Amino acid sequence: MTLICAVIAADTPAAAKAMTTEALAAGAEAFEVRLDALADIPDDLSFLPTEKPVIVTFRSAEDESRREIFAKALACGAAYVDIESDSVLRSVFPRTRVICSYHDFTQTPTAQEILHLFGDLAASGIPKAAFMVRGPRDLLEIRKAAFVLQQSGELFILIGMGAAGEITRVRAADIGSMVSYCAVRPELASAPGQITVAEAAGLGTDPVVTAITGWPLEHTRSPQMHNAAFRAAGIAGRYVRIPSPAAELPLLPEVLRCYRIRGANVTIPHKQAVIPLLSEVSPGAQSAGAVNTILVSPAGNLTGTNTDIAGIAATIAALDVTLSGARVLVAGAGGAARAAVACLTAAGAAVCITNRTMEKAEALAAEFGAAAVPLHALNAGYDLVINATPAGMSGFSVEIPIPVSILTPQTAVFDMVYEPETTPLLAAARAAGCRAVLGGKTMLIAQAAASFALWTGTAADAAAMTAAFGGES
Ligand code: NAP
Repeated sequence: MTLICAVIAADTPAAAKAMTTEALAAGAEAFEVRLDALADIPDDLSFLPTEKPVIVTFRSAEDESRREIFAKALACGAAYVDIESDSVLRSVFPRTRVICSYHDFTQTPTAQEILHLFGDLAASGIPKAAFMVRGPRDLLEIRKAAFVLQQSGELFILIGMGAAGEITRVRAADIGSMVSYCAVRPELASAPGQITVAEAAGLGTDPVVTAITGWPLEHTRSPQMHNAAFRAAGIAGRYVRIPSPAAELPLLPEVLRCYRIRGANVTIPHKQAVIPLLSEVSPGAQSAGAVNTILVSPAGNLTGTNTDIAGIAATIAALDVTLSGARVLVAGAGGAARAAVACLTAAGAAVCITNRTMEKAEALAAEFGAAAVPLHALNAGYDLVINATPAGMSGFSVEIPIPVSILTPQTAVFDMVYEPETTPLLAAARAAGCRAVLGGKTMLIAQAAASFALWTGTAADAAAMTAAFGGES
């Protein structure tokens, strides 16, 4: 059984005691007390918790003073002392009272190397290692090593660090780790990817896990949105990041299966590249030529769908545009434009496509029976104008992708860019008196809600997702 281990790092014994009380109330089942966080080490260690097993950690180069403190901690009832593998102290205390630890803050070695390392660490105590996880390869190496370690029946601690390592914490029980280190509060997380005691307690041992892959993933706000939807629905669930460089994308299906991930969003730049890795692709995703959502069946089959289309349809509905027979201009000929054109033509709209590179607009138009019109030849008369280019995002030289002269009070405008929330195109549309205008946030929330519903069978609370996304109201 994996224990939720609250990391107690405070600068005074009184503060450590208060933090212990808070952690117990949140569901802590063990404590790691970081003596190295104290401003001064008191002679009296009786402030150490007694309610649950305690691991005492004290990182310092001064082994002689540490030796005394560790001995005192064990005498005061600490269950274990955590001693680094390169310290001479690792063999000083009884093996049953030592956690012999190793950290690599840059990478994860192969499963073979992990097992070799654990063999060495186990000579001095319970072996513990934490590795920086960079992507699917590292996650698979950890999972493979954990599988072998579990067969031994011996206690061990294995953690993947970094945002990409969060899944190893959420699935600590599957990995078989003796403890899962958790922060008492989010701002107290001692390692990236560390979840809080309350979150771990809420998740239990078998949460629903969903994920996002892409490269890079630092700026995605999908985890906030999906985790808010899990909370609002009362589902013990967690949405984690699995950043994947292109070369490691083929490993994604195995990661999804072996970490029992129910579904994943796929974002830039993998929406097309992921298709050959899937067992099935929905007709909508096929016509859009892109997958942004994967559903993993209980048998491990992967089906790709495209909920961006649902997001586009929801935005158009919110703009109150009836697509059948409507004249629609799409600016852009990339992935988002393709999803829009697929959605629009299927609903019977008359679609024109314009783009910086006209050859791409022409190819897309030919595929869907739409028209391609160069920017300089555009005239007014559209019921709906959609921007499916990044123009308008801060940092882009082109701010408005179409001539504003074509915007009239009869036009509705949908800008897929969601940051900033009021783009230059939306501001121009409002100034031109356009009858309805919406930015990309509506689409983003709607596609996220559609993915959530697909994975959980439960409608997402869009208001909770919107609040978690933040920004202007
Ligand atoms: P993409 O496949 O890379 O396509 C980008 C398109 O924009 C291409 O047609 C490109 O023209 C054009 N473009 C790029 N830079 C431009 C510039 N400076 N001025 C004018 N046109 C430019 O990207 P995508 O996946 O389609 O995404 C496009 C945008 O849609 C994203 O930036 C994002 O803001 C938005 N989006 C929003 C959501 C949402 O949920 N709200 C979802 C998906 C996408 P060329 O063909 O000439 O290169």
